[in-house]
Amino acid sequence: MSMKTTQDQLLITHGTLATFGERHEVIEDGALLIRGNEIAAIGPSAALEGSYPDAERLDAAGRLVMPGSICAHTHFYGAFARGLAIPGAPPENFPQILEKLWWRLDKALLWEDVRLSALVCLMDAIRHGTTTLIDHHASPHAIDGSLDVIAEAVQEAGLRACLCYEVTDRDGPEKMAAGIQENVRFINKVSGFRFQVPGLETGQPEALRAEPFTAFRAGSQGEALNMGPETRIAGTFGLHASLTLSEETLARCVEAAAPLGVGFHIHVAEDKADQQDSLRRSGLRVVERLQRAGILGPRTIAAHCVHIDAYEKDILRETGTLVVHNPRSNMNNAVGVADVEGMLRRGVTVGLGNDGFSNNMFAEMKAAYLVHKLHRGDPRAMPGDVVMQLAYANNAQIAARFFPRPLGELAVGAYADVIILDYRPFTPLSAGNLPWHILFGVEGSEVTHTICGGRLLMKERELLTLDEEAIAARALERAQQVWKRF
Ligand SMILES: [Zn+2]
Repeated sequence: MSMKTTQDQLLITHGTLATFGERHEVIEDGALLIRGNEIAAIGPSAALEGSYPDAERLDAAGRLVMPGSICAHTHFYGAFARGLAIPGAPPENFPQILEKLWWRLDKALLWEDVRLSALVCLMDAIRHGTTTLIDHHASPHAIDGSLDVIAEAVQEAGLRACLCYEVTDRDGPEKMAAGIQENVRFINKVSGFRFQVPGLETGQPEALRAEPFTAFRAGSQGEALNMGPETRIAGTFGLHASLTLSEETLARCVEAAAPLGVGFHIHVAEDKADQQDSLRRSGLRVVERLQRAGILGPRTIAAHCVHIDAYEKDILRETGTLVVHNPRSNMNNAVGVADVEGMLRRGVTVGLGNDGFSNNMFAEMKAAYLVHKLHRGDPRAMPGDVVMQLAYANNAQIAARFFPRPLGELAVGAYADVIILDYRPFTPLSAGNLPWHILFGVEGSEVTHTICGGRLLMKERELLTLDEEAIAARALERAQQVWKRF
């Protein structure tokens, strides 16, 4: 039969393509060819329909086609906090939030809770078009193997994630050692799939961008549509925060991580308490303390960086350390507002995370856009194009530390992480004003299709990989038990 389509090629037609990336274009009536796990062609619909007549078609029908969102810092394990009543007086400050909420919740999680917490977050991510997530996990009563449990959930969902376990001294030396072991075990497990990017150690983004991602290929093109974990799962070394890590523990983590060639993922100066603790312990501010310990570098993620001074910003730039801004979490915890623009001006790469809030990065972008204006009393603060830089270009740079192909853009050779949104602009839409359409118009709930690595995970708002009702029902059961233990 001549009607047969080429199974590993999907042609999305008649969309308004917002490419992001270097191309930075809005293409009306555009088309995009997905071959295997990557984007193989982009152009006008008529041209691509002519060139690829046998490809399976997906008609975007005038909808917006964009790269999937990247979340550069999250905590799947926090899912069951939603609606949870904290006994006693409400927490007055950040240390009390940790003690009264998070350090009690993570201790209440057993294996099945770790799995379900991840699954409900992953469903939320697919629904809102977030295709890559960098997670920071803690479950002190289910440490060994916890990252495998999460990795399996990520594979089941069909998304892409970088995982780590938060090492901390707060639960005693045995659990501290178990945390180190879990990072080492998991990184070794996925290390067969790790890749080297020449020039990365210089910390220069240009070196990264210039180097084609040819060092790594996931099997043949034919296998790629149903590819295994190899390019969907990555590992890094997790650390909770300076305020729960002794000098000895930091040294042990650096020693354990060195042969693995990985960096760290750590909370940095989220609250002033982290600085007070660091000065008391070491006489140094947090960033300097971490630098001296050997924690910083171009593969290390420093989440938050709310309470850092000019000298610490310089250290972050000099070491090439990646910073992740989480405005909704910072507002919720009343910890302050990070000087994101100051860090960007210095040349620090700052991306955007949700720190466990909903996996809807459009909501996080809106929060980032608003909070700096109010905080500085200046409507010129944090312009829309800078928010896009955090969410797309910089998050793509951060993800590039863990995944071998370009992400966060519609470009030939990039991962086919693509979303379609039912957004119908009633004012002109161009590459120049796209940021303000996203910030004032686009909603995560408008996502109708989510594709990750060439695989369709949601079609016309129907989840294809996860049984939403069954997972939600099971999560509800488990959440009640977690709340009882809490
Ligand atoms: Zn966090």
